[in-house]
Parts: sequence; C-alpha cells; structure tokens
Amino acid sequence: MTVTITEEPLELLRSMLEEQFVVHTNRLTELTICGRLPGHGGYDARSLDALADTARQGIADTARALRRMSDGTYGICRVCDQPIPLGRLRAVPHADVCTRCQPH
Ligand SMILES: [Zn+2]
Repeated sequence: MTVTITEEPLELLRSMLEEQFVVHTNRLTELTICGRLPGHGGYDARSLDALADTARQGIADTARALRRMSDGTYGICRVCDQPIPLGRLRAVPHADVCTRCQPH
C-alpha cells in the first residue's frame, strides 16, 4: 500500500498537527499550574482532571500522527489498510482509521 496523499496537503496537515500539539501542550501546562493554585484556579478538581486527560489524549494523538508521517503510514486506515479520504484528514488530522472502521 502506497500513500496516495500528495506532498502539498501532507505539509498542510503536518502544520495543523504541529499546531494542535503545541495547543494541547500549552493547555496541559496551564491546567497543571491551575491544579497547584489555591482553589485550583477556579476549576473543581474533577473537571480539572477531565480537562487534563483530554489535553494529554490530544498530545498523544497528534504525536502518534506525526510519527506516522515520518514512517510513511500516515493517511492509511490501520484497520482496513485503505487510504483515509483527505476530507476526513482535514477535519480530523490525527485520524488513523477511516470513517467506516471508526468505532461507534
Ligand atoms: Zn478502514
């Protein structure tokens, strides 16, 4: 299976992923700081945990997608081995399964 995505959208998706990675990392840093403040910076402890989890998940997802870009498996569904449509990658740049194989 060869990657059918041409160079240009791939570069665009890479910058989207890099941007998201930075956004999630900054968010996690911010939440970690809030967690250390008296009164958790206005958050209750449970939502702070949930938000931090979401940020960590976002970091993991984008890091994995960037790694797939370097090893050449980006844009290929890991379930059915078919190319993931570009429209889906534009909407969800870290997607590693196509819409059909997406668990519901
Ligand atoms: Zn699939």
